[in-house]
Amino acid sequence: MPSVLTVPPEAQPSAHFSAEAATDAYLAQIPADATARSNAYFEGGYWLILWDFLMGAIIYILLLRFRWSAAMRDFAERLTRFKPLQTLIYWTEFTIVTFILGFPLGVYEGFFRERKYGLATQTFGPWMGDQFKGLLVGIVLGGFFAMLLFGVVRRVPRTWWIWGSVVSIVLLAFVVLIAPVFIVPIFNNLKPLDDPKITQPILSMARANSIPADKVYEIDASRQTTRMSANVSGFGNTMRITLNDNLLRRGSPEEIQAVMGHEMGHYVMHHIYKDFTFFFIVIVVAFAFLRWSLEWSLARWGERWQIRGIGDTAVLPLVFLLGSIFFFVLMPILNTHTRTEEFEADMYGINTSRQPDGEAQADIHLGEYRKMSPGAIEEWVFFDHPSGRNRIYAAMRWKAENLQLFEPPQPTK
Ligand SMILES: [Zn+2]
Repeated sequence: MPSVLTVPPEAQPSAHFSAEAATDAYLAQIPADATARSNAYFEGGYWLILWDFLMGAIIYILLLRFRWSAAMRDFAERLTRFKPLQTLIYWTEFTIVTFILGFPLGVYEGFFRERKYGLATQTFGPWMGDQFKGLLVGIVLGGFFAMLLFGVVRRVPRTWWIWGSVVSIVLLAFVVLIAPVFIVPIFNNLKPLDDPKITQPILSMARANSIPADKVYEIDASRQTTRMSANVSGFGNTMRITLNDNLLRRGSPEEIQAVMGHEMGHYVMHHIYKDFTFFFIVIVVAFAFLRWSLEWSLARWGERWQIRGIGDTAVLPLVFLLGSIFFFVLMPILNTHTRTEEFEADMYGINTSRQPDGEAQADIHLGEYRKMSPGAIEEWVFFDHPSGRNRIYAAMRWKAENLQLFEPPQPTK
């Protein structure tokens, strides 16, 4: 995919400007082999969702059926009599065992497949280093989470699912809050945006939308990937907009402004707080489902799997199995929630940056790892952003309806 994209003749301002023709002309700039490649990558991702789900299910069933989970619990109980510490030990065993059993699929998906499609920049050593860091973060944060949740289940055995939901959303908020300051820097280098060539228009846009300049960051995503990207992370004091270095290096100024406008949309429209509200509802429903399905499964197989009850840490593989079924089924709804916010951010971004062509260029670059023109049902089920074609069309329709902004200045008499 070329780095700098030009505005095709059909997308230039004219009396017969057509949003459809402009969209088609942009899409026609993508070489056929690039389309075939990104379609194959993205559609392969659909199957990976299924394989990941099935692989997870097989691992959890193995742990239950052969009573490895019960053995891991017994081991933790032999080491200490202190309940929260038993939970932490069990959690550590569980995380390491599932990491090892899931590794063959994980290394294909995260390393070999990314390299095959030219999206990875790491060799195996540094990639593996990142995996170990992720494993450690999972043991520490997940262990803390598990100790709290099992504490709740043991203390309030009848209403644990309500209190468990509350603890979960508070923990989710805590992780989102600390992520940009304590978790992201474990893997990447973040710094305030300071390239004077590009910062001036970006910081002007930030000021126009009452976002302080110290909330705009750059991340060295090129350490891991060739993908162009940007995001809003954190909330409250830690909320910030981050543009990645691939975007800053390869994107045109118009494109960077369109992306920055999009991220400002997430920021200004408080999407993070709407997400918390949405996920709180999802988590309550998930816990209600867990309460019912755990009781049902334990009544049937609890004895055979040597699980004493819901307060027994050995129940964790069953919790993960049921949770993965719940979120697998819910995927289209979660994607639709996110996709709706992404469309709002697109329109906010075009309104504030007034760069519909920059938006189209960004969509084409994002098309290096996303399918541009999916079917409607495919988009509804699998897409957490609008498809590239729909995003370009929305930008070109905006341009068609605001053509006066793009007309060359009339000579004065
Ligand atoms: Zn977004």
